[in-house]
Amino acid sequence: MNQFLSRRTFILIPIMSFLKTIFKPMQVLAFSLASKEEWNLSKSEWKTRLSPESYYILREEGTERAFSSPLNNEKRKGVFHCAGCGLPLFLSDKKFDSGTGWPSFWDSIQGSVETKVDFKLIVPRTEYHCSRCGGHQGHVFNDGPLPTGKRYCNNGLALKFVPD
Ligand SMILES: [Zn+2]
Repeated sequence: MNQFLSRRTFILIPIMSFLKTIFKPMQVLAFSLASKEEWNLSKSEWKTRLSPESYYILREEGTERAFSSPLNNEKRKGVFHCAGCGLPLFLSDKKFDSGTGWPSFWDSIQGSVETKVDFKLIVPRTEYHCSRCGGHQGHVFNDGPLPTGKRYCNNGLALKFVPD
């Protein structure tokens, strides 16, 4: 028994260190940097621009309570902008009711969001954020409707809706 255990440990150690090496580059920052210099604001500058709730979502990658956002039921035509910097992120005709309690879209405006992998819930999830100010928006999943099959699950507090 002891011999079996030690042999198994002997095999496992190199495997584990190999896996560590692979996964190391995937460790990411707890926030995303702005692509535009003028949006690299300090914490206190962001705090003066945003409500405490939006700050928590956009700058600390928080998640709002499901079904808490009025934008979840928003059905008018218009554009959903980043609540941090105003960049247009989603069009109303790409919005759908996912039943999750968060505003959901099956496509974003091209170039408006960027993704990274996070491990906040242990299992890897694809986080996405505004490509201009780096503000966290939500997570994107591969169980959305056609034609993209994507589901952008967005925090309403990170968006500002402007009706047409
Ligand atoms: Zn932004």
